[in-house]
Amino acid sequence: MDPFDVCVVGSANLDIVATTTRHPLPGETVHGIAYHEYPGGKGLNQAVAAARSGSKVAFVGAVGTDPAAETLRAVLAADGIDDRLAVTAEATGRAVIVVDDAGENSIVVVAGANAAVSVDDGIPAARVLLCQLEVPLSTVTASMRGAREAGATTLLNPAPADELPLDLLACCDVIVPNEHEVELLGGVDHLLGAGCGAVVVTRGGHGVDIHTDAGTEHVDAFAVEVVDTTGAGDAFCGALASRLAAGHPLVPAARWATAAGALATTVPGAVPAQPLAEAISGLLVHERDG
Ligand code: ADP
Repeated sequence: MDPFDVCVVGSANLDIVATTTRHPLPGETVHGIAYHEYPGGKGLNQAVAAARSGSKVAFVGAVGTDPAAETLRAVLAADGIDDRLAVTAEATGRAVIVVDDAGENSIVVVAGANAAVSVDDGIPAARVLLCQLEVPLSTVTASMRGAREAGATTLLNPAPADELPLDLLACCDVIVPNEHEVELLGGVDHLLGAGCGAVVVTRGGHGVDIHTDAGTEHVDAFAVEVVDTTGAGDAFCGALASRLAAGHPLVPAARWATAAGALATTVPGAVPAQPLAEAISGLLVHERDG
């Protein structure tokens, strides 16, 4: 069987969101205004981003036996993603989010099944492996090492930020932190010195800096009407993995991903905001000819 373009090993959550006029104090109950459920988790979001960017994608994760599992399977299927979801005794991961009138969030993330994601039985063959840090670090390290040995290109989005062991950094062909995460990880020079092949720092509306031993290149952000930046980082990572899998060099691939990130800020939410390849190439052409 043909290998996949991109294999994502990561988290899948159901985000449950209550809006209210103000946050409850400890012990207090307040009236809510509205309730919504959204698919989420950095792994799932990035798998959708890579698929919409044009890749054949496999997603390795874990869910429970609850109805949320079926909701997430349907989300993956809708984008043609091959789901390799293990079923665990733990509940499907949840993010419980309260949003007040001022747009202020408070969030409780319950990893649930995500804490049981394992690659002990191996991972599907793919040109590019993409991981984040919402599943156990031992799983991330085993995935990256195994993919490296199989000749794949390895990408790590180190989010949420955590200190990372040198043996994991040495397995990263490309690491994609945001400005905040790169500082927590010890800075660009530390990451390059530890063996990361390239450090791609996403800087929101300031675009992206691409650092390698050969120097630094900058890709400008695209000017768009920003509605909601949720999912922009996930759009960037999924689209970058997709373009690297298609054989594009890092800087043009990062330019494509920068366009994907910009488009994701123009639509609310994470999964609904992930742009299709036609929209991404449309923005690139518009910018070139504009
Ligand atoms: P994260 O969400 O992980 O913090 P960033 O905020 O750096 O990541 O956003 C990821 C990418 O999305 C950026 O590199 C850029 O390409 C795009 N992006 C984010 N915010 C904007 C913005 N305000 N205008 C244009 N592009 C943006």
